[in-house]
Amino acid sequence: MLTEMQIAIIGGDARQLEIIRKLTELDARLSLIGFEQLDHAFTGAVKEKLDEVDFANIDAIILPVAGTNYEGQVETIFSNEKVVLTEDILSKTPEHCTIYSGISNAYLNGIVKQSKRTLIQLFSRDDVAIYNSIPTVEGTIMMAIQHTDFTIHGSNLTVLGLGRCGMSIARAFHALGAKVKVGARKSEHLARITEMGVTPFHLSNIVNEVSDTDILINTIPCQIVSASVISKLPPHSLIIDIASKPGGTDFRYAEKRGIKALLAPSLPGIVAPKTAGQILADVLSQLLQDDLNNRKGKGK
Ligand code: NAP
Repeated sequence: MLTEMQIAIIGGDARQLEIIRKLTELDARLSLIGFEQLDHAFTGAVKEKLDEVDFANIDAIILPVAGTNYEGQVETIFSNEKVVLTEDILSKTPEHCTIYSGISNAYLNGIVKQSKRTLIQLFSRDDVAIYNSIPTVEGTIMMAIQHTDFTIHGSNLTVLGLGRCGMSIARAFHALGAKVKVGARKSEHLARITEMGVTPFHLSNIVNEVSDTDILINTIPCQIVSASVISKLPPHSLIIDIASKPGGTDFRYAEKRGIKALLAPSLPGIVAPKTAGQILADVLSQLLQDDLNNRKGKGK
């Protein structure tokens, strides 16, 4: 139980509702910032404005999956208020206050470091990223169906990257009957791709591998789908880029060539917010419980 914990949940989408539900069940006291348009009320949770919260009593801050943008603004689906997280706010919290987000950026890392607090990025955990790859795959399949006029079955599909998402995507599209090839740079990844029964290629050879691609799915968060790669794609091909913003595609060049290229962020939050929220809620409740137990053990 999280009976003695006071937690600020700042912004987010429908995934956050599962977190709120779980934490209130565990008896935590919640300050909800950026939720004033949410009709539902949760026992033990109070909707507040950012400047109304007494951060000196906050044991943990939970941010949306994206954390903040580069100016510190937190996305708030259930509010029109602009919510900006600052170093000043973090400095008001007790020293033990931990900040949880899905991913981070230079701004968020910077204010956490300056205020000497701890940031936990949930998506850098393998368990969260692997569970989260399940709704991500379903969202990717949805996009492939919506944006093509041919079946996935029998199509030539190229996946870039064999990380937590790349592996799940390659496996699911292979099972749907696509002819899948996967580009990676590590020899153990190339071995795993072969073991999975799909075709491996080394990323250094990417420009020679994409000329028959119907659908290209990028999971690599750096500029990998460059103009020279796009210039080799057939005109009818579709690029689905799921890598975190700004993606790994030269979208300007794709548009110039008339190739449809889609940046597809937050697919789990779109196709399965309940499941995606439950994945985060389960891990968060365990981490918060561990934190509380540690502090009790240290007498803090
Ligand atoms: P991951 O497990 O870290 O996999 C990333 C892959 O990219 C690995 O195969 C890695 O290969 C490769 N890579 C990274 N930098 C590279 C470089 N410079 N050159 C070549 N390969 C490189 O990450 P993940 O969990 O699969 O997530 C992949 C991306 O999708 C992330 O940006 C994540 O934020 C995003 N994501 C988006 C959604 C969505 O809904 N759109 C959902 C989940 C995740 P090495 O091992 O060789 O480095």
